Amino acid sequence: MAGLARFRKGAISAALATTAVATVAWAGSQVSSSDAVVPRSEAAAAVVQRMEAADWKAPHRSVQEASLRGCTAANPLDILVIGGGATGCGVALDAVTRGLRVGLVERDDFAAGTSSRSTKLVHGGVRYLEKAFWKLDYGQLKLVFHALEERAQILQNAPHLCKPLPTMTPCYEWWELPYYWVGLKAYDLVAGRRMLHLSRYFSKQESMEAFPTLALQNSHNKTLKGTVVYYDGQMNDSRLNVAIACTAALAGAAMMNHAEAVSLKKDPKSGKIIGARIRNNLTNKEFDVYANVVVNAAGPFCDEVRGLADGKASHIISPSSGVHIVLPDYYSPDNMGLIVPKTKDGRVVFMLPWLGRTVAGTTDSAATLTMSPEPHEEEIQFILDAISDYLTVKVRRSDVMSAWSGIRPLATDPNVKDTDTASISRDHVVCVDPDGLVTVTGGKWTTYRSMAEDAVNAAIKSGSLRPGQDCLTHQLPLMGAYGWDPASFTVLSQTYLRMKRSYGGKIVPGAMDSAAAKHLVDSYGGLAARVAHIAQAEGLGKRLAHGYPYLEAEVAYCARHEYCESVVDFISRRARLAFLDTNAATRALPRVIEILAAEHGWDRHKKKMELEAAKAFLETFKAAKNAQFDDGKHSKMHA
Ligand SMILES: Cc1cc2nc3c(=O)[nH]c(=O)nc-3n(C[C@H](O)[C@H](O)[C@H](O)COP(=O)(O)OP(=O)(O)OC[C@H]3O[C@@H](n4cnc5c(N)ncnc54)[C@H](O)[C@@H]3O)c2cc1C
Repeated sequence: MAGLARFRKGAISAALATTAVATVAWAGSQVSSSDAVVPRSEAAAAVVQRMEAADWKAPHRSVQEASLRGCTAANPLDILVIGGGATGCGVALDAVTRGLRVGLVERDDFAAGTSSRSTKLVHGGVRYLEKAFWKLDYGQLKLVFHALEERAQILQNAPHLCKPLPTMTPCYEWWELPYYWVGLKAYDLVAGRRMLHLSRYFSKQESMEAFPTLALQNSHNKTLKGTVVYYDGQMNDSRLNVAIACTAALAGAAMMNHAEAVSLKKDPKSGKIIGARIRNNLTNKEFDVYANVVVNAAGPFCDEVRGLADGKASHIISPSSGVHIVLPDYYSPDNMGLIVPKTKDGRVVFMLPWLGRTVAGTTDSAATLTMSPEPHEEEIQFILDAISDYLTVKVRRSDVMSAWSGIRPLATDPNVKDTDTASISRDHVVCVDPDGLVTVTGGKWTTYRSMAEDAVNAAIKSGSLRPGQDCLTHQLPLMGAYGWDPASFTVLSQTYLRMKRSYGGKIVPGAMDSAAAKHLVDSYGGLAARVAHIAQAEGLGKRLAHGYPYLEAEVAYCARHEYCESVVDFISRRARLAFLDTNAATRALPRVIEILAAEHGWDRHKKKMELEAAKAFLETFKAAKNAQFDDGKHSKMHA
């Protein structure tokens, strides 16, 4: 842990830490043990203090379950949240840091739904701005403005997981240059002091230097005139989701994944919802949890949950699916994205560098609801066609290393009478039903925090709750942000050994290489040293899959500290192997199972079941079977 102490504190963390108080009123508190109300600055400081504690451990899953079981009719929670995506975890974090007693159940894993399947952009939405100007739509402009505010806060509160990313808009017609230049300058202007970096024009030559694979001539034989480069944020979505969940747990919320709300409980006299029946999906055992308010944050499934409350509830979700594909790194430079501003059918497609590979997408098609959406071949082909117009690389289906589909929870406000499709909003919806169920949905990842704030405000009103303070998530660092700085990986490289290498039969410890150190810091922020320590002290320093920086130690760490309960939890949402390369993920399975089995005490039967479940899960990611390449960055010697 020595390395952790040496990390410089991030600016926000330091600011909050200065307000720290000697006594942390929440220390050790779980929802059932205390309903202490902590003054505003103390609440933030308590979270920061806990982040600072080198030996902090997330309460074990069994402790979380016991806390939830302890929430009886006589001792209810203030808020029970259903759904552990970005929105639900955001609600739990917001409510618990206001001093409320909070529990959350997620039927699969944190981020198992849409929140791990996004384009990974933390953005205001340049295309919404375009609409705002052309349609003189003040509402759209407000949405962009608001999302840009939230963009800045995410980058500030989780700087290890979200970074600014330049994106290039190629122009093959002369008129496009001033058009996009003015539009993107307007984007800077709307961002105001929240701007990441100024957008700017790149000449043809500069563009080719920055993006060597960009086509000089497109398929219509038009020559590249230049490009306009602008900035948005890019995140590791499921890790950010897990960080929000763990921060909420750190603050005292009872967060339980693999726990499903199977029915809702109503007070027979008032007809108000007073809790839910929960099934632990790992043991199949059921129990009741009582709460003053239930918040439905089930994303695309929120109609299902509203249906549990009222079989006749109107539907508010119009599910639409979006597909992404992952291609080798040579499709795009390391630090420059590309936006195809208008595909043949007028959509926008992005091609972005992400975790050492290239992500391209997305599509927009009406979908049926399922927890395992699968990309269709024509959707994959649509993306390949859209980017091939702009690249010199021969775009091949056989290069698709992974492909996934996610379902957008596009929502209509049930309180708005106009029900035509135009009323389906990209904005979020918070509605309170007569039985007291609060539903929060729609919006986008970028605005999860303010969606949560609105939902908690509605819950407080609906349940006449008495929080100790106002919302304070604007400036609350998320787990991993504390103690992080951009150069943290250098400390890691110099402090830790990663594994033992063999030199002529002699086994000697090897230094942690920079690729692994960078990866750990980008994934775990200020907590990276904990993972490095496990790698070194427990001999878990080997890579899990050739070509990727994921270490064995991460499996153990995530099982101990991040509620990683299954092989799929690990390969898809703690590490992103399933999303990056399904072949590599398949190769990693035996070792991941072995380490998780040791952590969770699995027997042979459970290991077999986990292997089958993981293989079935990976089948839903439609990679080309033979998609393999070597980026040369992670040599076999280390594997
Ligand atoms: C293709 C695509 C690309 C996108 N790209 C971006 C982007 O780049 N930037 C951006 O800002 N936004 C983006 N979005 C939008 C963003 O991803 C979503 O708005 C956001 O993830 C929704 O989060 P959520 O928590 O509301 O839903 P979800 O993440 O789906 O979470 C809902 C959770 O509820 C759980 N649940 C359901 N029923 C129950 C029950 N009965 N009991 C317990 N749990 C239950 C589910 O298992 C699920 O995990 C994109 C969306 C899509 C589809």
